Amino acid sequence: MQLVFATNNDNKLQEVQSLIPQHIKLLSLKDIGCFEEVPETQATIEGNAIQKADYIKTHYGYDCFADDTGLEVESLNGDPGVYSARYAGAQRDAHDNMNLLLKNLEGQPNRDAQFKTVIALHLNGRLKTFDGICKGEITNSKQGTQGFGYDPIFKALGYDKTFAEMSLEQKNKIGHRGKATRLLVDFLNAI
Ligand code: IMP
Repeated sequence: MQLVFATNNDNKLQEVQSLIPQHIKLLSLKDIGCFEEVPETQATIEGNAIQKADYIKTHYGYDCFADDTGLEVESLNGDPGVYSARYAGAQRDAHDNMNLLLKNLEGQPNRDAQFKTVIALHLNGRLKTFDGICKGEITNSKQGTQGFGYDPIFKALGYDKTFAEMSLEQKNKIGHRGKATRLLVDFLNAI
């Protein structure tokens, strides 16, 4: 079986690739000649995941899956949520986003947050979604250099390291994308 993973994010590709069984060949957007920006203009994380998967199926004809992720902070009413990538502006800069989030949480005792991933799969004419949530909290400062995005300021519940201080394997074991990907793999294995 071959499936397109509709992402240009090499970190996401690495995380997911390490959990996908070898008999499933993962193709990247580059592999199928998709170099344009895939639209993600919906108001929800699930909507964006489906929009990205739909776009590839419609324009390129491949069975595929897409992931969309947001960081939901309780005391900010779920922000940045679906706007996580552009929280500090259109430049989509991870450090600008983290700095703004830390600033908006200054003096806030409730730092509870969760990452939410939705994976949307187009396979054999059907669309299916898989969710993964990881609960935790926002730290007071950036810690660690691994991973990407908001990883340096997120500690999962029960862990004293941020995602950016963990190996890819550790993050995948407890993380949102790892959980959603394992559900995807269980589904693919059962076909
Ligand atoms: P998207 O799923 O690529 O739209 O990601 C939305 C935003 O969340 C971007 O700023 C990403 O860098 C960030 N993000 C997505 N997944 C993760 C993750 O696993 N750790 C930290 N940040 C993430």
